[in-house]
Amino acid sequence: MSHASARVPMPANEPVLAYAPGSPERTELKKTLARMAAERIEIPLIIGGQPLHTGKLAEVRMPHDHGQVLASFHQAEAPQLQAAIEAALAAKPAWEALDFTERAAIFLRAADLLATRYRPILNASTMLGQSKTVHQAEIDAACELIDFLRFNVAFAERLLAEQPNSAALTWNQLDYRALDGFVYAATPFNFTSIAGNLPTSPALMGNTVVFKPSPSAMFSNWYFVELLREAGLPSGVINLVQGDPAMITAQVLSHPDLGGVHFTGSTAVFKSIWRTVGENMAKYHQYPRLVGETGGKDFIFAHASAGEELEALAVAMVRGAFEYQGQKCSAPSRAFIPASLWPKLRERVVALTGTLKMGDVQDFRNFMGAVIHEAAFKKISGYLEYAKNAAGVKILTGGKADGKRGWFIEPTVIQSEDPKNRLMCEEIFGPVITVHVYPDAAYEDTLRLCDQSTPYALTGSIFARERSAIATASQLLRHAAGNFYINDKPTGAVVGQQPFGGSRASGTNDKAGSFLNLVRWTSPRVIKENFVPPTAVGYPFQGAE
Ligand code: NAD
Repeated sequence: MSHASARVPMPANEPVLAYAPGSPERTELKKTLARMAAERIEIPLIIGGQPLHTGKLAEVRMPHDHGQVLASFHQAEAPQLQAAIEAALAAKPAWEALDFTERAAIFLRAADLLATRYRPILNASTMLGQSKTVHQAEIDAACELIDFLRFNVAFAERLLAEQPNSAALTWNQLDYRALDGFVYAATPFNFTSIAGNLPTSPALMGNTVVFKPSPSAMFSNWYFVELLREAGLPSGVINLVQGDPAMITAQVLSHPDLGGVHFTGSTAVFKSIWRTVGENMAKYHQYPRLVGETGGKDFIFAHASAGEELEALAVAMVRGAFEYQGQKCSAPSRAFIPASLWPKLRERVVALTGTLKMGDVQDFRNFMGAVIHEAAFKKISGYLEYAKNAAGVKILTGGKADGKRGWFIEPTVIQSEDPKNRLMCEEIFGPVITVHVYPDAAYEDTLRLCDQSTPYALTGSIFARERSAIATASQLLRHAAGNFYINDKPTGAVVGQQPFGGSRASGTNDKAGSFLNLVRWTSPRVIKENFVPPTAVGYPFQGAE
């Protein structure tokens, strides 16, 4: 046992490796890609530290080559879900009682394992299973997840240090307890880092977790669970249960010991979770904490003074809208451009889009892979069909979809006369950006429209040189984005630099990658100790008149 006042290492953002030809990281990654593409693994459930095989199997396929099976995974049914919740509850007393420095050490070791031996494993599995290019995998599955693990430890240390004042003769303390019950983490397909963060941030604060990954990210998520085991995470702290999302969620949410939900995904699913929790309220032993980061209709807004910055604006639109096939929650999918800038900008955006290569992510020359699965492919194709026929709508480049070998959708730029066309308002979650061209003089009115025309409020950018135009946009769009960018694309938030999350229909805005998120996973107890308690009942004011 140690009595030192330990300090966790000061975190710094993990450097992004380049994977240039001839680099050692490229050689190692290529080897891992080839091995993983050739083998076919079987993924069990992990309950109380034990692998469990139900025999009810589903497959993981490569989105860019959907004939190729990477893995099959066992799916949970009701008895295993019950067992996973029981395992989480059984592991909780010891885990919560463990000294913070011991818990922290496990996650710091996990970060270092990921920065070294597991880096090619998490990157390759994210590339093959979620169709990310090497750069998109590196900034997600390696760097962002390493940052979450290291920075959360430092944020937690800061939080624990937050203590109340004490009056004379007393000592007040805040004890940061885990929530009552267990936490349910349900994670999206599009970021391996989010799949890693959602179960680990509550666990760091002493909670135990039932973790339900997205079936479409099962491959990389499995390797992360393996990594946690290797880092020394005790059995039962994070229990892996994959399978039918609606069935699993319904059963977990009906348990009386549900203490919290850590969710990232679509708005509709989170609303259904909120509704179910409300309906189950009478069953619970506590009020479950609900944290959900959800959909977006992120924007790039240009002012006429951005004319000098036209190339930066064009690059922001193309990188923002098309990296990872537009499947980032932060990807801009609508743009408001002043008429004076449009002819030149349009030419640049169309030309740059034309240079993007799309294909198998194992070929490092490609800028884009495929969209995640057939349902996404069909949904996005539906929007493209609509765009081909709708009045006042023109496809400027792209517009084609080809699902024969992989779920490929061309990067597509659309122009819409009507700023309230569904292409300008609905989340498409694919490589599609729609532009509305507004009269230069209607700057403020168009800002108001941008604020009001969607239910979302996740990310957005203003491009302008004139400072007063930036100030106006910042004010009028204050509630339109939880992450607001000036002269930059609205994607690429970095842990510790731009804590992430939006409000309105985009989520509870609990800012992943900051101490604000960790606050949600602790239920503080105040302890007042009186060193010299009073020994008389009466007060001085009762003395003789
Ligand atoms: P999704 O809603 O389909 O899935 C998210 C999770 O919910 C998965 O674990 C999934 O298996 C589960 N799920 C799916 N259907 C369910 C149901 N009927 N009942 C219960 N659970 C269910 O989302 P996705 O396609 O994985 O991810 C894309 C969405 O996530 C987009 O809307 C995107 O904007 C959003 N997202 C938001 C953020 C953010 O920080 N705001 C970050 C990443 C993704």
